[in-house]
Amino acid sequence: MSDITLAFLALVLCNLIIRLWLCRRQTASVKHHRGQVPEAFSTAIPLDDHQKAADYTVAKMRLSQIQLLVETVWLLALTLGGGINLLYGWAITLAPADANTHASLLTGLIFLGMLGFASGVIDLPLGIYRQFGLEARFGFNRMTPALFVTDLMRSTLVGTLIALPILSLLLWLLQNAGATTWIWAWLAWMGFNLLLLFLYPVLIAPLFNKFTPMPDSAHKAKLDALLHRCQFHTSGLFVMDGSRRSAHANAYFTGFGRNRRIVLFDTLISQLTPDQLEAVLAHEIGHYKRRHLPKRLLAMSLISLALLWALFQLLEAPWFYQGLGVSIATPATALALFSLVMPLCLLPLTPLSNALSRKHEYEADAYAAKSSQAHALIQALVTMYRENAATLTPDSLYSLFHDSHPPAALRIAHLESKN
Ligand SMILES: [Zn+2]
Repeated sequence: MSDITLAFLALVLCNLIIRLWLCRRQTASVKHHRGQVPEAFSTAIPLDDHQKAADYTVAKMRLSQIQLLVETVWLLALTLGGGINLLYGWAITLAPADANTHASLLTGLIFLGMLGFASGVIDLPLGIYRQFGLEARFGFNRMTPALFVTDLMRSTLVGTLIALPILSLLLWLLQNAGATTWIWAWLAWMGFNLLLLFLYPVLIAPLFNKFTPMPDSAHKAKLDALLHRCQFHTSGLFVMDGSRRSAHANAYFTGFGRNRRIVLFDTLISQLTPDQLEAVLAHEIGHYKRRHLPKRLLAMSLISLALLWALFQLLEAPWFYQGLGVSIATPATALALFSLVMPLCLLPLTPLSNALSRKHEYEADAYAAKSSQAHALIQALVTMYRENAATLTPDSLYSLFHDSHPPAALRIAHLESKN
């Protein structure tokens, strides 16, 4: 066994152990605090709800651990187990026989399509269990099996339509790679992502949900006044029929330029008072005013620049393929291997990315406290934790790796200091 293979196995094993260990820590922390609602929430959250959140979190952790094991076995089957070789072999027999550039580009696309399809099939049983087992057991599932199937077909189709042009371009650039091609690949990648971000709210999201302009109500009057006060221009306040799929509630801010809109789940509007909803919207506006989206985009663009550079370097490195059990060195197998292995190398970076995101959450909260009311946001958050059965007692290390939002207690304490 080569050194590269050993190093790869060590990397896979380290990742698995660390992530399983984090899940176990989270389970232990939640179970440890199950008997008592934390002091700061004792008046707002009944013990029953607190225990439901604990059981829900424990059940989610169990599922995550199974998912981690399945993912690891699948990764090893594709690489050292010869799965990529096998799929590429099939792709060759399906693509036209002559070996010109177009034919090999087509072979590459067929191969990536089969890989994506096979990975989707592997994920499916756990996806079904998550929706109709776990979510249903805790009263969150609102999806019918028919909707699940339509969603699956629709997202596969949309995913294929989105992936096809950018993957073709990327494979073509890899096939004709020169010293600086990675910069072109990066420009194309960023341009494509910005285009998606621009089109997502008007073209893609409506394929899955209904978005209706918010009707006049006490809620809407409050929100309009806030938008005016903050001088925030938007193409509108939209209500999304989130209740079609799930009882979980949320609000988000999407798109940019002409397509900028604020989306509120119908489930959220039914849970919050006008004051609380105003505070939630003020938080979302805070993200915009503090320029969090451009900052995240900048961070993302630097990371993808580094990743694309690495991909183009590995393209011509025989050890990369051989060490990971792949006998066919082509742009498509390089791309597949790279996207399978890179997440393992990025694990140490997730706490950094989460730290940036939490910093942004605190800043948006501070903005909401200034332009709306801190105590209304606290009430809204408590309601959302309760209704979503989100744990109030996460493990701090697990949280560092998994949570893009600050833990409940810290977030409320921060808001109280602004009160
Ligand atoms: Zn936020």
